[in-house]
Amino acid sequence: MDYKFNNLHNGGNIMTSPLDKFYKKSINERIESLMSAGFIEHEHISNFKQSFSLPEGVSNHMVENVVGTYQLPLGLGMNFLINSKDYLVPMATEEPSVIAAASFGAKTVRAGGGFTTTQEKRWMIGQVILKNVEDPEAMKEKVLAHYDDLVERAHAAHPSIVKRGGGVKDIDVRIIESNPEEHTPEFFVVHLYVDTKEAMGANIVNTMAEAIKDALEIITGGTALMGILSNYATEALVTASFRLDPSLLSRSGLEGTEVRDRIVEASQIASVDPYRAVTHNKGIMNGVEAAVLATGNDTRATSAGIHAYASQSGQYRSLSKYYVDEHGYLVGTLTIPLAIGTVGGSISIHPGAQFTQHILGDPDAKTLAGIVCAVGLAQNFSALRALVTDGIQRGHMALQAKSLAMTAGAVGVEIDVISRKLRRSQPMNLTQAEALLEEYRNQS
Ligand code: NDP
Repeated sequence: MDYKFNNLHNGGNIMTSPLDKFYKKSINERIESLMSAGFIEHEHISNFKQSFSLPEGVSNHMVENVVGTYQLPLGLGMNFLINSKDYLVPMATEEPSVIAAASFGAKTVRAGGGFTTTQEKRWMIGQVILKNVEDPEAMKEKVLAHYDDLVERAHAAHPSIVKRGGGVKDIDVRIIESNPEEHTPEFFVVHLYVDTKEAMGANIVNTMAEAIKDALEIITGGTALMGILSNYATEALVTASFRLDPSLLSRSGLEGTEVRDRIVEASQIASVDPYRAVTHNKGIMNGVEAAVLATGNDTRATSAGIHAYASQSGQYRSLSKYYVDEHGYLVGTLTIPLAIGTVGGSISIHPGAQFTQHILGDPDAKTLAGIVCAVGLAQNFSALRALVTDGIQRGHMALQAKSLAMTAGAVGVEIDVISRKLRRSQPMNLTQAEALLEEYRNQS
């Protein structure tokens, strides 16, 4: 495929590309412009919509008791320059303004040189949990002495991942002390660290963890309670960051340096106040979950791990950090555990997931994690900049008016007409939208 990522980048200007003013185009025009810019090929145009639909024969085998499919809008996050490469990021979400905010944040970051992302390793953790283990410290040594045997058993249970260059990379033991307040006994927990290559790896790791349960019972003399993946993917941390000249931040009559300092303060309050941190992180998850869902990955697995990571200090804190560097630039960073895949699970079955990965240029799993993390940071940066300047509502008004017009029953051109009238009138609520729609229909 002849992607135009590098052309956009080297040509330097997404604004003069066919993608310029993407948001103003009709859906058909957007699809045409994606082809002109080289993100999809002609063969996709004719069956573009079918690419996203889920055939009954597939959905009926994905989950149980299927009666239909539940659709969400799929949009593209624009302007993403990540590790010097251009991306259009597929985002599936029901929430208005999320995609616009991510694209707006990415546009400013792009002007400052784009996002940098890193994910050093990508190991999934499998847990075998045992109880009634006598002398746990001695048993820990014994388990580690059986390292080779345990690895061999785990690999024998899923040999194909070893052939792909993955498999068990380490084994560790954690002793969880009894807790009288929680009325819990002592647990002996064996961790398997597994490189699952391009797969998220839940089934691979579950299979391996279950395969060593019996051996661990014999080694420790304890009783195995379960063998299962942990979604707290602390060995698959990904970081996205950017650095911006404050002159790029001025807004609504405020100097760039003032906006910069306010963003840093907004980051500080989210670090120390859980009430603010939860909403701050919700904004990050607006981007992360939309991209995780659009690429066919497991939103529950990623969310559970990410929120646990936000609590790693014992208090729920903001996941992103902003500070001013020695040159007066604003630096934004986001680190999250992100174990997502490019194969396996529903990715290999859902035609939409295959298509969205294609739009991203069929990245490998580490690159995909970097892209998703960058979307979370763009979303967060955009929200903070709005919050500390104009406030969040101003940007939301147009979309809220549209949503009210549609709820009132407006269809087709009526949606734009009624939402425009609604924004000029007071109060902006459903009753008013219904009244304006009735008046419009009576006049036309
Ligand atoms: P799969 O069970 O689909 O396993 C991955 C598949 O991808 C394997 O069949 C593997 O083939 C194939 N594959 C092809 N190329 C590669 C490659 N380069 N690297 C790795 N694998 C490759 O998926 P996962 O194990 O990833 O499990 C993910 C699914 O499990 C998700 O749907 C998730 O929702 C679900 N799940 C999640 C849980 C959790 O999060 N706690 C618990 C249980 C399930 P081969 O076998 O030939 O190697």
